Amino acid sequence: MLALHGTGVGAGIAIGKARIISKPGENIARYEIESSEIATEINRLKTSVQQAVSSLISSGEKIDGDIPEEVAALLETHAMILQDPMLLEETTKIIRQKKINAEYALSLYGKRMQKVFDEIPDPYLSSKSADIAQVIQRVQGALIESDESPEQSLSNQPDGAFDGEIIIANDLTPADTIALKKHRISGFLTNLGGPTSHTAILARSMQIPAIVGLHGALNLLRTGDLLIVDGKRGVIMAGPDERSLDAYQRRREKINRRSQALETLREAEAISLDGQRIGLFSNVELPEEVAFSARQNAEGVGLYRTEFLFMNRDELPDEEEQFAVYSEVLKSSDKPVTIRTLDLGADKQVDGGRVSEGQGTNPALGLRAIRLCLHDVGLFKPHLRAIFRASVFGKTRLMVPMLSNVEELDQLFILIEEVKQELREQGCAFDDTIPVGGMIEVPAAAVTADIFAHKLDFLSIGTNDLIQYTLAIDRIDDEVNYLYDPLHPSILRLVKMVIDAGRHANIPVSMCGEMAGNPEFTRVLLALGLREFSMDPASLLEVKQRIRMSDVALLEAVLPEIMNEMEPAKLRQKVSEMNQ
Ligand code: PEP
Ligand code: MG
Repeated sequence: MLALHGTGVGAGIAIGKARIISKPGENIARYEIESSEIATEINRLKTSVQQAVSSLISSGEKIDGDIPEEVAALLETHAMILQDPMLLEETTKIIRQKKINAEYALSLYGKRMQKVFDEIPDPYLSSKSADIAQVIQRVQGALIESDESPEQSLSNQPDGAFDGEIIIANDLTPADTIALKKHRISGFLTNLGGPTSHTAILARSMQIPAIVGLHGALNLLRTGDLLIVDGKRGVIMAGPDERSLDAYQRRREKINRRSQALETLREAEAISLDGQRIGLFSNVELPEEVAFSARQNAEGVGLYRTEFLFMNRDELPDEEEQFAVYSEVLKSSDKPVTIRTLDLGADKQVDGGRVSEGQGTNPALGLRAIRLCLHDVGLFKPHLRAIFRASVFGKTRLMVPMLSNVEELDQLFILIEEVKQELREQGCAFDDTIPVGGMIEVPAAAVTADIFAHKLDFLSIGTNDLIQYTLAIDRIDDEVNYLYDPLHPSILRLVKMVIDAGRHANIPVSMCGEMAGNPEFTRVLLALGLREFSMDPASLLEVKQRIRMSDVALLEAVLPEIMNEMEPAKLRQKVSEMNQ
């Protein structure tokens, strides 16, 4: 039995068979094979090389008219590398000698050839090293897509293809994670990724136990291994013995019993021991989750992440499609729905159309969210029109992500006015009183929250990004996960500044980052003055339970001790004592 440790991101326990999925060009997994499997592996290699040659020829044929000279030369070089008998001979030798899978043998051959070319002093010849890498990736892609592969690609899989399995991948984008939903997987594990990456957020909202940031440890696992995934503790057991299986099955039952016990709180009010009424809202990524939010008795949707509608498709959704989806969301909720305008860019990229231009050298600091929308009015205006048109079907609130500068708000208000005017002229009904709020998730906006509060109807603190930008840690980078700290004094101070600014301006302040859904932080947030929390609906009852057992006045009285504490360990200790 093997135990591996990473960052648990989706609570609960999954028990199932491992399924490795790969994307060409990524870390290719290495498997040992039996002597009896060598012939099959060599056949897979030969078939995939032939497939790669045919796909290269068809890429050339797809180009209309005369092929430009440089493209023709590139196709010719790639065809030459592919058809070089050395590629098959040497890779076959590696498979036989090392008894390993064809994908990995190809990587070894590729590295060897690249080294030879890299050392050639002639710049033209040494530049061919990149072509070798591309050709190898093409063959590996064909191998991974082949039916006999122990690895599978995510694309072109029928619904339920990975039913009950635990997916293992080097990395998963948010778009991949949504695609996994239709496969009814029971968990997933990745080498990369952090606890507040959108991939992790989706795992929580899909209630899938998951562990990220395994730092290459996944290379020790193989498709078909029996695994236990403990999403809360971040532990994986591979090849568990009967005793561990029994113990985890019992733990799973205990977790189920605990969540059933929490069900009794569904109808209960979120009210503290000293009578403070707290608003509990939910975060939804996909329209179908609104029903779950209603079942949990949330006071409404505090964050609807519209950008997920734009993923996993060739064409971006037009105004009509967006109107239909937002209308459905509003119709399925009899409570307010906070529709966040598109937060594309950074880790949330889409295939369809022009949005990918948001990829800069440092995408998290680039043309993301409101910046991208103001830059591409052709994308933004139909989005706003769709939201305003849908607003007749329910109580709508509009929320803007990643504000850093109030001038962005001035531009936004001009666009909103234009949209409203157009709709009036076209005789389209809309709610003219939609509150407009802003997310405070960039330190500049937190420090100047009073200025934003002056222009907005409500504020919502996005701690996922606020922590990322304040502590300078990329939320998807597993190497710096260890620095992720919602209790860093800078974060506590910024959160307090925003809450105080909202209070002075007499507008509501909520929090919709992951910090709001973690019961370990409920009391410190109450002490800081937070009165509206928005979270993954699955966390709502646990947070409600914590609120109902808290005396807010007492918490407020001990807050200065926490805010004045100089030692991080003592600060954490004080927060933990507050939770006793
Ligand atoms: C946040 O940054 O805290 C937030 C809620 O937005 P997202 O996670 O979608 O960036
Ligand atoms: Mg954010």
